[in-house]
Amino acid sequence: MPTFRAPRGTRDLLPADAARFQGLIAIARDLTDRYGYRPIETPVFEQAAVFERGIGEVTDVVEKELFRIAPRTDEAEAWALRPEPTAGIVRAWVQHGMQTWPQPVRLTTIGPMFRYDRPQAGRYRQFWQFDVEALGDPGPAIDAEIIELGHRFYGRAGVAGVEVHLNSIGDAACRPSYLAALVDFYRERAGAVPGPARARLERNPLRLLDSKDPTMVAINAGAPRIVDHLCAACAAHFAAVRAHLDAVHVPYRLEPGLVRGLDYYSRTAFEYYVTAREGQQQALGGGGRYDGLVELLGGRPAPGIGFGLGLDRVALVLEEQGMADDAGPGVPAPDVVVVSADPADTIARFVVATRLRGAGLAAQPDLGQRKLGRQLEAAARDGAHFAVILGDELAGGHVQVRDLKAGSQRLVAVDDLARELGRAVASHRHGTGE
Ligand code: AMP
Repeated sequence: MPTFRAPRGTRDLLPADAARFQGLIAIARDLTDRYGYRPIETPVFEQAAVFERGIGEVTDVVEKELFRIAPRTDEAEAWALRPEPTAGIVRAWVQHGMQTWPQPVRLTTIGPMFRYDRPQAGRYRQFWQFDVEALGDPGPAIDAEIIELGHRFYGRAGVAGVEVHLNSIGDAACRPSYLAALVDFYRERAGAVPGPARARLERNPLRLLDSKDPTMVAINAGAPRIVDHLCAACAAHFAAVRAHLDAVHVPYRLEPGLVRGLDYYSRTAFEYYVTAREGQQQALGGGGRYDGLVELLGGRPAPGIGFGLGLDRVALVLEEQGMADDAGPGVPAPDVVVVSADPADTIARFVVATRLRGAGLAAQPDLGQRKLGRQLEAAARDGAHFAVILGDELAGGHVQVRDLKAGSQRLVAVDDLARELGRAVASHRHGTGE
């Protein structure tokens, strides 16, 4: 037999990890509900052109990392798995005419994204993102709302020391002259610019700025800064975003080299980092304004801003900070376990447990064929409060109910069982303050 394994760069989230993820998702949902962001779900695959146009062909995400789905012979369409959610959500905005809805439209989604990345800690080929988007509002106040929301999410999740890195990358009015200055700067140093970066110099010079290559990092230290080239409108927008963040005391650091990996951004760009973890160069999350994206995907021009926060990296940092166990709920113990004196009679246990479940109780039938003593041992080990014991009394319509914590036991009519147990479980919960 071949040994089957999860594909390279993917992970199984076993129950403890999956519960932690569910805990993070619950925090995200609670926050977005309260901030007024409504859920949206788009397909995990789209026409590849949605990403090629929406993200930009000269980006790592599209050039190297897009998971393309080979078309079947009877399908002409080329599809790809989504590497990020924004392009798909904007495609949906255009398709469903959301520009006619009351503006702005606040949306949120949480789900797996796919990038053919080189796997390493915190970098996977399938990873989860918590995403919010606000469309139809040019900002600057909503920019601050979104940045603050992300910051609050990390706080609620228990991640210590999260800092916002903030920049403005200008717009169609001021970026071209900045790009020209940047290209001149790199051309003067063309001899020193490593080959792969040089190939990008003319097509997408902005991408050279966030290169992790040590030679490029050294060159970039002296590169012209976009904040020095902002037009008056972009400079005023940027100042106002900062004023809003200051007003609610969200700490941020101005990062002139922050450009974001995706092409569609304009003006506000931001990323979240854990301060003490910078050596790893991994952002916990990031986002920005994308005022040109709707038009790029065929809609009437509309501004937008959003973020994508990587849940895998949050889980990783929580583990590093020794907070992992606080992040998610454990598996709750059953209220009731249903056991019987006759090991073979799984039908009776199944029927009684199904009834109790129907009445809203967390009831667990012992479906193995072991002796009563063993069934009761397992019930105690699982932390059940009550055991329903099916024995000879069942013929007369009765069962024994044992309080495993108190050690007491009494006879209850099967017809009264759900009601009696419901009351007992409720008073137990009340008594323990759960
Ligand atoms: P990006 O769109 O590249 O800025 O990604 C936004 C966030 O998604 C990042 O800050 C990470 O938290 C997360 N992320 C991106 N790529 C990966 C990956 N390959 N594995 C895990 N998380 C990722």
